Amino acid sequence: MKKPTRIVQSGRGGKYAPGMINVPVYHASTIVFPTVAELRQAVARRNAQVLYYGRRGTPTQWALADAITDLEGGAGCVLYGSGLAAITASILAFVKTGDHLLMTDSVYEPTRAFCDNVLKGLGIETTYYDPLLGGAIAGLMRPNTTIVFTESPGSLTFEIQDIPAIAAAAHAAGAVVLNDNTCASPLNLRVLDLGADVAIHSLTKYVVGHSDAMLGAAVANQANLARLQRGGYLHGHAASPDDCYLALRGLRTLEPRMKQGGATALRLANWLKQRPEVDRVLHPALPDCPGHDIWRRDFTGTSSLFSIVLKHGSDAAISAMLDGYRHFGIGFSYGGFESLVLPSNPSGVRTATTWTGPLIRFHAGLEDPDDLIADLEAGLERFNAAL
Ligand SMILES: *Cc1c(COP(=O)(O)O)cnc(C)c1O
Repeated sequence: MKKPTRIVQSGRGGKYAPGMINVPVYHASTIVFPTVAELRQAVARRNAQVLYYGRRGTPTQWALADAITDLEGGAGCVLYGSGLAAITASILAFVKTGDHLLMTDSVYEPTRAFCDNVLKGLGIETTYYDPLLGGAIAGLMRPNTTIVFTESPGSLTFEIQDIPAIAAAAHAAGAVVLNDNTCASPLNLRVLDLGADVAIHSLTKYVVGHSDAMLGAAVANQANLARLQRGGYLHGHAASPDDCYLALRGLRTLEPRMKQGGATALRLANWLKQRPEVDRVLHPALPDCPGHDIWRRDFTGTSSLFSIVLKHGSDAAISAMLDGYRHFGIGFSYGGFESLVLPSNPSGVRTATTWTGPLIRFHAGLEDPDDLIADLEAGLERFNAAL
């Protein structure tokens, strides 16, 4: 079955509520059992889809977990209240005090903050590596390295990582590979097929798709599922049934949204590339983007995100450009139906590689691309006037 068909078919209501297209929203904490024997049976099968206690999920959570598992091609999925919770719980499921973790230098900044604060406090050391290192990561493996963490593309700087080469090196040294697949989306990269052991998503972004819920997921292959599930359970993670319903609702239109957002983003990126104010456009589908050849090999499409680096310009000029946009909202996150813009400067959060200067990240929404280009053009006029 092809992915667009899977997106429509997976995790449908009928499995749990015969005849229903969509799974109902079950609000439940306590589940009562007719007999002690039945309670004990449910306890014995607690990782199966058996009603037991609200934190273990109800059909609403199971339907979403089924769908995400199917899209990623994994053995099972754990849901969390946010994408960051999915990342931290997945890491904690695979490390203990004294272990060592290899982290891509292009990682989502809050993930870095978790490593530098929480993991450090637990006596778990993090080494950051160049995202473009590929198989040479073998040279950084230590006897106590238990996790190699990847994220491709990086969500601000868009480097594409050689996951198969990294996974081969990690597995040869006995480490597991965790991948933050949020920016790629479950549509454009089947990262478990490329060798990752756990694929992590902030469902908040492309899957929810409408900027109205926070949710995370981690999908593991068979060898690592029990450990992932146990970690999530021991930390008490749970996902709201209303938000799971919104994620299932959003998921059904993931493919056309990604297609249109991706096409618009590429059009905006190419338009900006021609502008004299723009030094570089960071978009994996452009031949000069770091890792472009790997993107062509491994990905089936692009996301709606890209960044630009301007040749020069003051903070005041950048603010004048962004403040006046009519269609690009200034804010964090991405993956919704509306266009967004985010000024950022990764310089301060790089340790294995260097990055200099500010960048501006764009998220293309579902507006007409001509309106967006007119908005970008007027913004550059404000920028030039404020220089
Ligand atoms: C947004 C994001 C997260 C965190 O997800 P939340 O749902 O906001 O907690 C993690 N990784 C990447 C790449 C993201 O873009």
